[in-house]
Amino acid sequence: VLAPEIEARKTAILAEVFGFDRFRPGQQEVVDAVLAGVPTLAVMPTGAGKSLCYQLPALTLGGLSIVISPLIALMDDQVNALKLQGVAAEAIHSGKPREDNVAIWRRVAAGEVRLLYLAPERLMTDRMLQALSRLPLGLVAVDEAHCISQWGHSFRNEYLQLGRLREIFPAVPLVALTATADKATQGDIVERLFGGTARVFVSGFDRPNIFIGMEEKKDPARQIESYVKARPRVPGIVYRISRKKVEETAERLVAAGVRALPYHAGLTPEQRAAHQEAFLAEDGIVMVATVAFGMGIDKSNVRYVLHADAPGSLEAYYQEIGRAGRDGQPSEAHLLYSGGDIATRRRFIDEEQSSPERKLVEARRLDSMVGFCEAVTCRRAVLLGYFGERAKACGHCDVCRDPPKVIDASRQAALALRL
Ligand code: ADP
Ligand code: MG
Ligand code: ZN
Repeated sequence: VLAPEIEARKTAILAEVFGFDRFRPGQQEVVDAVLAGVPTLAVMPTGAGKSLCYQLPALTLGGLSIVISPLIALMDDQVNALKLQGVAAEAIHSGKPREDNVAIWRRVAAGEVRLLYLAPERLMTDRMLQALSRLPLGLVAVDEAHCISQWGHSFRNEYLQLGRLREIFPAVPLVALTATADKATQGDIVERLFGGTARVFVSGFDRPNIFIGMEEKKDPARQIESYVKARPRVPGIVYRISRKKVEETAERLVAAGVRALPYHAGLTPEQRAAHQEAFLAEDGIVMVATVAFGMGIDKSNVRYVLHADAPGSLEAYYQEIGRAGRDGQPSEAHLLYSGGDIATRRRFIDEEQSSPERKLVEARRLDSMVGFCEAVTCRRAVLLGYFGERAKACGHCDVCRDPPKVIDASRQAALALRL
């Protein structure tokens, strides 16, 4: 429970600075924990509203808050957005002339800045840490916190240094945020950044309007064609593992009268741009693609994502099916599953990954995909469980719709014995 004056400040700033009349799911719990001084890790998907989870407590606490971010572009985006809202935010980074950084630092030292964005290596210099220790600090936020974990896919050495923060500023609230951390990565973050103890909040991963389904892969060319033709004139994405399969599949669909376009890294940039633009502009195009397609694509009415080959991890699968149904309308994720595909993926890992550690990480990520495909319980529960979020009642996946028949083995054995 927060002190009444903090509670009042928090509510006023939410409305007056950010212009929001309420929290999104999951935000309030994080904000309150941070304000209570609890070491906190927040895991929410992209777009869920993680920034507010540290910006609101920072402004409520007052003083100077430090935000760690791995990329200059991310820092500049956040700072610009905050400035538009009238918040004194700045970034000091190597992409700016030295004079600019010096001028910003003067304002920081004069107490004129509320949020200061820094790269980890810039924060963790003795000079910076000493200078900051003379200022009234509100909180320290570590954005993109998965970068501290070797289990993640974007480990950054500079992030490891941040583990010293809790000892350097023991009285300053520390909050970490990420969109991409499975349970193992979360554990790693808690260990490395917080020294083993932190509250972990996971929310917002469920996409209830997406029906999750699967079928055994037998004759993929025929299965893809019949799936796509059963959903005529709506935007859809078919994912395939290789350029060659993308080309084959697109050709077969076109021959069957479907408006399908290929997308993979082997096409020229002009072709890729043209196919992407057509997909965005027209409704009714089926994009047949490798993983190269999808990042930053914002088409709200994609009605299905068909995986004709299983992705290499449950995280990749989640990202890819998330491109369906952004408008909240009923949509589908469908996967053609085959043990042979998994064996192929295992071989890739063995051949392509150089270090034993990377092999282990990738093998473990693939195992999560297998576990999901072979689940006999609700798929949504397995998928959300991977991120550490508990699923609400689903009813909207193939397992929930047709629960596997439980075989009573003892009865069968008894019958057999009687014969
Ligand atoms: P994330 O960092 O989790 O990807 P952001 O913090 O960038 O997401 O927020 C995504 C969008 O959601 C932003 O446009 C932000 O203004 C908006 N947003 C965040 N919290 C709320 C809220 N409580 N009410 C309405 N919009 C919100
Ligand atoms: Mg963010
Ligand atoms: Zn289910």
